[in-house]
Amino acid sequence: MSYLVLARKSRPQTFAQVVGQKPIVRTLQNGLLQTRVPHALIFSGVRGTGKTTLARIMAKAINCEQGPPPEPCNECRSCKEIMAGSSVDLHEVDGASNRGIQEIRELKENIRFMPTSSKFKIIIIDEVHMLTTEAFNALLKTLEEPPEHVYFMFATTELHKVPVTILSRCQRYELKRVVHAELAAHFASLAQQEGISIDEAALNMVVREAGGSVRDGLSLLDQVFSYCGENVTGEEVADVLGLVSHEVIADLARALLAKDLSAALNNLDKVYSYGMDIKRFINELLAWFRSLVVCSVSQDPARLLDLPADELALLQEVVAAYSSQTLFMMFNLLLEGLEKAAFSARPRFAVEMTFIRAVQVDDVVPVTDLLTRLDDVLAGVALPQQQVVAPQARQSIPSPQVTPQTSRQINQQIPQSDRGKGSTGPSAAQAAQATQSRGDRPVAPTVTEKKSIPNLNR
Ligand SMILES: [Zn+2]
Repeated sequence: MSYLVLARKSRPQTFAQVVGQKPIVRTLQNGLLQTRVPHALIFSGVRGTGKTTLARIMAKAINCEQGPPPEPCNECRSCKEIMAGSSVDLHEVDGASNRGIQEIRELKENIRFMPTSSKFKIIIIDEVHMLTTEAFNALLKTLEEPPEHVYFMFATTELHKVPVTILSRCQRYELKRVVHAELAAHFASLAQQEGISIDEAALNMVVREAGGSVRDGLSLLDQVFSYCGENVTGEEVADVLGLVSHEVIADLARALLAKDLSAALNNLDKVYSYGMDIKRFINELLAWFRSLVVCSVSQDPARLLDLPADELALLQEVVAAYSSQTLFMMFNLLLEGLEKAAFSARPRFAVEMTFIRAVQVDDVVPVTDLLTRLDDVLAGVALPQQQVVAPQARQSIPSPQVTPQTSRQINQQIPQSDRGKGSTGPSAAQAAQATQSRGDRPVAPTVTEKKSIPNLNR
């Protein structure tokens, strides 16, 4: 009995089937339609995002006998040969094991001859960054002026290791990690094709573990399908992949923020009883706090975090109750403590101590709040004095409204009345005027008023 793993069974055979990478697919298809395909292309990106797949689809489309359509027909002899891996004009070279100058010389010798049964010879070099410097140098001249009948396609996970001289001779395509929603939709449709029902929690866990790589996700899905049979649930996925459900992490985070140490320690115990790897747990907890911080400071957290809607709602609910400063401080505290724990001989103890420290720290009050409070306090000091002044003024002056105008009149009196005492009148008047010009505090400094009002009575 031979079983074909999902990653191979579901490998896209047309551009339309490629998961994610829409801008790249569009550029490639437009190139085919306008016959503007360069003779050297390089695909880069994290593992399992479709670099080799795109190179193979491109190879089929270039050699397809049904003319140059934007999609390979998958029906003609050339397409079928490429799909079966038997095309003599498609050379797939593993750059990791054929990295020397000798292999490149042989390749160059080979491409001197015209294609045997197709329109073009196509060379796909996977993991091209593994080639030696000499091998790269041997390629330079060929890439600069490639023969008309040859197309080069390179794939690499480490673009920075490819010499600039090579890069400048290729058209570059940088593949992105596939976003959560696209991966989830793809995996759900695969499960359906396999006749397996998978619940949303399970799907989200697999997608999260895949980290944007289609192939990683498919390998996990294979494992999950074998373990769970026809009905896949979140708990089973957590079991088989050694994960804890996100609710436990969320509960723990909430307990820490609410300074509920016993709940936090209980949740930690739960994590241990699940048998979850401590480093993984630490990563998940830090990731959760990072998401909280991002949620609290970002205008568009959905795009930055790429999480399912229910998880985002859960985060936003927590974020609403705390200031971003508190969340940031908590993140920093945990980052420091948990990183130490990850390398400790007794990580659980270290994690527990970090939790204790975290719940003992008080909420952070933003500096702006403190300044506002300080302003209030200052305003509060001034007010009682004004209230004292006002009745006095009312008794002595017929219409004693303490307005900016009266205070200006009052202050104009100061130079005369205080001249004998040697006080600097103009500066007091300036102070009063400065206060008026602020506008937000209608009543001028009370000290000068107190001095001047009795003078007016004399
Ligand atoms: Zn074809």
